[in-house]
Amino acid sequence: MQTPTEETIQPTKSFKDLGLNSKILKSIAEVGFTQPSPIQEKAIPVVLEGKDVIAQAQTGTGKTAAFALPIIQNLQNNKSVEALIITPTRELAMQVSDEIFKLGKSSRTRTICVYGGQSIRKQCELLERNPQVMIATPGRLLDHLKNKRLKRFAPKVVVLDESDEMLDMGFLDDIEEIFDYLPEDAQILLFSATMPPPIKELANKILQNPVSIHIAPTHVTNADITQRFYVINEHERNEAIMRLLDKETPSKSIIFMRMKREVDELHQFLSAKGYKTTPLHGDMEQRARLASIKAFKSKQADVLIATDVASRGLDISDVSHVFNYHMPLNTESYIHRIGRTGRAGKKGVAITLVTPLEYKELQRMQKDIGSSLELYEIPHMDEDRLIQALSKVEVDAEVVSLYEQLTEQFEPSQLVLKLLSLQFKSHKVDLDRIFAEQKPSESKKSPRSSKPRRNGRFKDSRRRY
Ligand code: AMP
Repeated sequence: MQTPTEETIQPTKSFKDLGLNSKILKSIAEVGFTQPSPIQEKAIPVVLEGKDVIAQAQTGTGKTAAFALPIIQNLQNNKSVEALIITPTRELAMQVSDEIFKLGKSSRTRTICVYGGQSIRKQCELLERNPQVMIATPGRLLDHLKNKRLKRFAPKVVVLDESDEMLDMGFLDDIEEIFDYLPEDAQILLFSATMPPPIKELANKILQNPVSIHIAPTHVTNADITQRFYVINEHERNEAIMRLLDKETPSKSIIFMRMKREVDELHQFLSAKGYKTTPLHGDMEQRARLASIKAFKSKQADVLIATDVASRGLDISDVSHVFNYHMPLNTESYIHRIGRTGRAGKKGVAITLVTPLEYKELQRMQKDIGSSLELYEIPHMDEDRLIQALSKVEVDAEVVSLYEQLTEQFEPSQLVLKLLSLQFKSHKVDLDRIFAEQKPSESKKSPRSSKPRRNGRFKDSRRRY
């Protein structure tokens, strides 16, 4: 779990003080939670009382247990689905289901996960086992409701988890339609990391006298995450990622990509180079997605290459590095991505590759985040790697004739040195030029780095601006 910010003051109450009963306290102790997180301290008593809640909190704040614990306690075991939790993705549904299973162990809570891609017949069979809590994604849930497949279904409490993500994924109409099938007097709990206007409108429609809870985002001030930006040229992304993986030797890392196709391509590229990567995106079969998450969790693969949507809500606590292959589309996405590291009190590094064209975006994001960002250059290919790469290169005939021409003009040793310099020079990023082009008014003020250059480049140099 992420560390609370100054705004959220360390909680002083115990789980018992919040009104939880002994069975639940037993499960909490077994899971190993010792103290409620700020969102739990605020939400648990209110949810226990049966009030509607609108809570602004992100993944990592303990929000799942904040609604799950009081829901489990309020279950009456009347052989019907008493609680419904709607999540944007299958992965999140399964994660919530796991958490409820753990927290409801002593109370023997029965859950069912309902999502697209799984056989409808199987889901109907599972429904026969009288689940008390249903965790569902919107599409499949609506399908069951429209086709009247849900018997003994009268939820007294409904949770909308990660509502802003449901908005982004285009589920808001489905959600409104789902509410036509739900009891009017159900208690509604709406959770969202951000509160864009459509979510506020939805809240106005479906919530009654809700209690508002706001947990300040933890990411911005999360001192456990070191944020770095590396300037590259567009064609250097793959090479840059390899050099960074080699230099940083992350114990576990996630590389975020914009598109599913890019995930597959980078996965193929890196795994061919010997990196233990695994892909994750929305076009993959459910089974393949789960296998990929499992491989990453168990460290069979130590680099997860993922799109935003597929990785939303993933609870993997020991990610040492997050890489943004491109600048994320917006600050929200950046914040969400980097929050995958620096969790549970551990240190994390977030690295973003930035081209000169993306520089404006970077400046805008810096303003949104309210902190200054450090700019670096990609480290050189290290000598070992160069030797390794050279030993694998096969010489083809065209190059032989070129070599013959060139050796007529240069000594072989000179030629090697020149070619190496050319190679390194082509990777050089001209920071001064970027600064001069993008920050005309400040370029005079910004002191030029006085660090010694090696081969005309900074070696892992750094600027704060
Ligand atoms: P969430 O915000 O629900 O995604 O939770 C993030 C992680 O924090 C999960 O691994 C939870 O199991 C864990 N967690 C939730 N509440 C607590 C707590 N009170 N103390 C320690 N860890 C917690």
